Amino acid sequence: MEHQLQSLETEARKSLEQLSDSGQLEEFRVRFLGRKGDFSTIMRQLGTVPAEERPRVGQLANSIKAEIERLFEGKKAALAATASGSAGKATPDLSLPGRCPAGGKLHPITLVMRETCAIFENLGFSVAEGPDVELDYYNFEALNIPAHHPARDMHDTFYISDSVLLRTHTSPMQARIMEAQQPPLRVIAPGKVYRCDSDITHTPMFHQVEGFLVDKNISFADLKGVLTVFTRKMFEKELPLRFRPSFFPFTEPSAEVDIACVICGGEGCRVCKKTGWLEILGSGMIDPEVFKMVGYDPEVYSGFAFGLGIERIAMLKYGIDDIRLFYENDQRFLSQF
Ligand SMILES: [Zn+2]
Repeated sequence: MEHQLQSLETEARKSLEQLSDSGQLEEFRVRFLGRKGDFSTIMRQLGTVPAEERPRVGQLANSIKAEIERLFEGKKAALAATASGSAGKATPDLSLPGRCPAGGKLHPITLVMRETCAIFENLGFSVAEGPDVELDYYNFEALNIPAHHPARDMHDTFYISDSVLLRTHTSPMQARIMEAQQPPLRVIAPGKVYRCDSDITHTPMFHQVEGFLVDKNISFADLKGVLTVFTRKMFEKELPLRFRPSFFPFTEPSAEVDIACVICGGEGCRVCKKTGWLEILGSGMIDPEVFKMVGYDPEVYSGFAFGLGIERIAMLKYGIDDIRLFYENDQRFLSQF
């Protein structure tokens, strides 16, 4: 009987090592520790053991049963731990709705920039890009703004050296392209421009689109037509345009262009300062002096040019009242577009 008990213990150890789930563990319990199990079966023979040996065999039986129970509890705990440990990487529940990764969005400035380019491209304009770090010559001289011209005061320029600067407008592309190509020309030049200025309506870096058209018999009416199409497409409304006489050294005559207020429709509100009009761009007929500088005959060719601020258009289009919001990278702001 002692021998039977010892081999039972060995067998119990071996089968515990092999089992791997709670179902097998239960089978183990029934087989070894159950009331009709192997241990009970052996114990029924205790009556046949000689009386003087019974206490010793009984003690051995108790310690073996305790050992099997200890091993059983240990295995049970180990299985429970593995089960909860693997719960995280359990088979995925394919019936659950999918989790969509957060998609990126285009910045409102990029959206308006792209839309602006698309409108002019549909009107036959080609797109040209130029350097942000520009020569003083193209930024000023070639645009009829010689050194010491008072118009330079309007541009709070970042100078890199006496002759190199960060372009203060995209107009240098006018000079660069006219210098390199012959009319007819229909070009827009989008890009970043820089001025030493920062408040609720100014940032040190902002975006402009320069546009110009040079051909024979171009008049102010052509400028008006192109800009009318642009504002209608951009603001998706029939907005009246107003041209106010202005001055730019590189256009003559020059005009600031206003549109009827997109907020109040001309009634007068805070955004339009009760005037009913909003300034959106500067424009004019290209000055004959600029043509002479690039070698075009002003008696043969005429043309118009305009420059519009993308931030300004975006603020009006989306009803944004502080230009700095564009550059604070606030996710709550940016995710609205
Ligand atoms: Zn208004």
